[in-house]
Amino acid sequence: MNVILLGAPGAGKGTIAKLLTDFDGSVQISTGDILRGAVQAGSELGKQAEVFMNTGDLVPDQLIMDIMESRLQASDCQNGFLLDGFPRTMPQAEALKALLSKIGMQLDIAVNLKVSREVILDRLATRRTCSNAECQAIYNVKSNPPKQAGICDKCGSPLIQREDETEKAISHRLKVYNEKTAPLIDFYDAEGLLLSLDATSSDAVISAIKTRLGGGLG
Ligand code: ADP
Ligand code: ZN
Repeated sequence: MNVILLGAPGAGKGTIAKLLTDFDGSVQISTGDILRGAVQAGSELGKQAEVFMNTGDLVPDQLIMDIMESRLQASDCQNGFLLDGFPRTMPQAEALKALLSKIGMQLDIAVNLKVSREVILDRLATRRTCSNAECQAIYNVKSNPPKQAGICDKCGSPLIQREDETEKAISHRLKVYNEKTAPLIDFYDAEGLLLSLDATSSDAVISAIKTRLGGGLG
């Protein structure tokens, strides 16, 4: 399935993407993970992106489109892709539309994950991320703690609170989301691709997506 996951920071885009990958083998493409990997690797891309990311601002559209243009043409996207954190601005959505038509691919749906501001603030403040760039597993100190406090179950690396998950950066990210990303909901509605869901329960979200895509997925 070719799916866009929309939703505020903390809405659960990454969690839903992982569950959908397990379901049909579509690949999760998280621009946030790609950018954090580049920052850790100290690459030119990482150096350019880091200043924006640390304050909770968006990385310039052109940088993102350069990444996505090649990423979407990698062979693993042939089985389907789950876009997690992209597109995030109107210019990115327009550029994605043009890119997909150029490479002969089609979107199935854009899923809008809706959660209240209180839930988002709570989820982000209690979220911990594996510091290993190759892993980036996500935990929650309340709802999904690691077996050993502060250590990743999967790779043994220390867990960290992301630089952009301080209270100040979080409220800035929510503001940026409302200004730049929320308009995409109307855009995909007009394209006839929107599926808006209450994101409190991941199971309910997954089953609604399966129902909507129904036939084609068996
Ligand atoms: P979130 O928890 O906000 O969904 P992400 O991991 O998706 O966080 O993104 C972290 C940061 O990476 C963003 O705050 C932004 O600086 C940058 N970023 C990720 N994806 C994009 C994008 N599509 N366009 C611009 N900036 C992006
Ligand atoms: Zn790890």
